[in-house]
Amino acid sequence: MSDTSDTRPRVMAIFAHPDDADFICSGTIARLVANGYRAQYVLATSGDKGSADPNATPEALSATREAEQLAAAKVLGVEEVTFLRHPDGEVEVNLPFRRELALEIRRGRPDIVFTFDPWQRYQIHPDHRAVGQCALDAVAAARDHMYYPEQLVNGLTEHRVHNVYFFATDYPNYYVDITSTMEKKIAALRCHASQIGEGDVGERVRLRARLVGQEAGLEYAEAFHYLPMMQPPALKRHPQW
Ligand SMILES: [Zn+2]
Repeated sequence: MSDTSDTRPRVMAIFAHPDDADFICSGTIARLVANGYRAQYVLATSGDKGSADPNATPEALSATREAEQLAAAKVLGVEEVTFLRHPDGEVEVNLPFRRELALEIRRGRPDIVFTFDPWQRYQIHPDHRAVGQCALDAVAAARDHMYYPEQLVNGLTEHRVHNVYFFATDYPNYYVDITSTMEKKIAALRCHASQIGEGDVGERVRLRARLVGQEAGLEYAEAFHYLPMMQPPALKRHPQW
């Protein structure tokens, strides 16, 4: 159970592989951390198939990628990283995974959840599709005590998430200015040495963030589909980024 003496607002990013969140929403996560949020990452897999190296093994690769993710989290100020260690590429939309994510939400008690937009068209990675769907379903389940009552022991209670932001979305309706955290985002991505390949990752990421920013009149931005959870207590405003 989380530390109840820590009254900071909380943000949780739920994603599939080490580097997903750092590529897609780490500029925003770093802004929230700068504004006093406690940040947590929850990863469905440790990315054990993410290599073209014929000598790579799943065991060695997942160890490397977990270490890379922990280093990137440190750069961003993400205080907790949870590895669920499902096999890469084999995450499914099913009830056990929903239950597992509901438990993480009840433990982490986030005010805000970031995850993949489950309705993104033509998303080819099955893990990305499954994580977005199950994370949203877990947000819905975590708030009611009759879902998974066996989890509600030792002080753990149901938990209501007020704001969900989908990343990798076809329907952005909210843009976050990441100009102030652009360098942190690039530094975090450089931690993922096994994934970033040749060339300057900073250049690629700046270009992408500039293109997104153009849609919103910002220098550098990340885009989201914001989904307010319209149940009482009353809808909270967007956090102060
Ligand atoms: Zn991924």
